[in-house]
Amino acid sequence: MKVVDAKNPQTQPFDIPSGLARILISKGDVHEYQPNLAPGEKLIVGGVVFEREPEHNLSFSIQQFKDGAPYLYANCPRCKPRFVYSGPNPESQSFRHDGKEVKWPADLVADYLTRCRVFYPENAGRRLVVAV
Ligand SMILES: [Zn+2]
Repeated sequence: MKVVDAKNPQTQPFDIPSGLARILISKGDVHEYQPNLAPGEKLIVGGVVFEREPEHNLSFSIQQFKDGAPYLYANCPRCKPRFVYSGPNPESQSFRHDGKEVKWPADLVADYLTRCRVFYPENAGRRLVVAV
């Protein structure tokens, strides 16, 4: 494993066996070497692949359950939890992402409510599912 001396971080990174590296990292003597990479860029050093985590970047869409019922969906390549809403009041709903309060985008909400009126002619949005 490639590591950097914790007390002298300006020195060159060096390779040590990963078992020893884990012990030294837990003691705070070394840090795992994290090169300054652009998102998605990879660097391979001594067979070890370094890859920077993707940025927080929410993408919104309207998805359908198996029965065709629409729901709002938000996904971030960095966050494992995905955000889902299926109910009658998306305008008043929000969720927390990357420490911030996020509202569903207005154009998506309008499209979703139109689809709900088609799918639930009597009772728009029966279900409520939040953060699956
Ligand atoms: Zn995220």
